[in-house]
Amino acid sequence: MSIATNLLAIQATIPKGVRLVAVSKTKPNEAIMEAYQVGQRVFGENRPQELRDKQADLPKDIEWHFIGHLQTNKVKYIAPFVSLIHGVESLKLLQEIDKEARKSQRVIPCLLEFHIAEEETKYGLNLQEAREILTGDGFQKLEHISICGVMGMATYTQDEAQIRKEFKNLKLIFETLKKEFFNEAPAFCELSMGMSGDYLIAIQEGSTLVRIGSSIFGSR
Ligand SMILES: *Cc1c(COP(=O)(O)O)cnc(C)c1O
Repeated sequence: MSIATNLLAIQATIPKGVRLVAVSKTKPNEAIMEAYQVGQRVFGENRPQELRDKQADLPKDIEWHFIGHLQTNKVKYIAPFVSLIHGVESLKLLQEIDKEARKSQRVIPCLLEFHIAEEETKYGLNLQEAREILTGDGFQKLEHISICGVMGMATYTQDEAQIRKEFKNLKLIFETLKKEFFNEAPAFCELSMGMSGDYLIAIQEGSTLVRIGSSIFGSR
């Protein structure tokens, strides 16, 4: 199946109010252009230099999202243009993003990443750690970042009930933070959850951003 065919089939399953991030990591520019040609404008990447190079070469109306683990020393490569950083899980990283965003005279939208899966290997905060960041002095000083919601990855399993439980938990975290910290902040509205294998469950559980790679572009 072609990229265009895959993409159109997936788009048909995504309701209004949910945005599709086409995860194009490791894929060449030609593959991205094939998706672009059928109207896809939001793409996700997880390597800063690769993202910088693709952004330079590809149409300027693409909205680039950074979806993976971001090292502080690489923020500079993406700060001038990135539309949303999905996986922020430390004050130190927020401070670095703020510093680089200031240089580019922008405000960079960020999502806090939460650890919702059973696997130890996945990154992310718990609710208490997020509260500590959000109430700390360090955070109050940041003027060039905007916290727009939360992101998480479910356990890699066939057990639908398990996945659903983890997405419900992320939704609850989103609502808790909204009530405690962002009630007056309409920008705090994004719930980034769902990948190729579990995005339909994520949508049922309230996802606003699904990040889909292999179902569109083929396996990596
Ligand atoms: C690679 C990746 C995806 C896409 O995964 P697929 O299973 O290929 O859809 C989504 N989110 C993150 C954080 C990723 O690293």
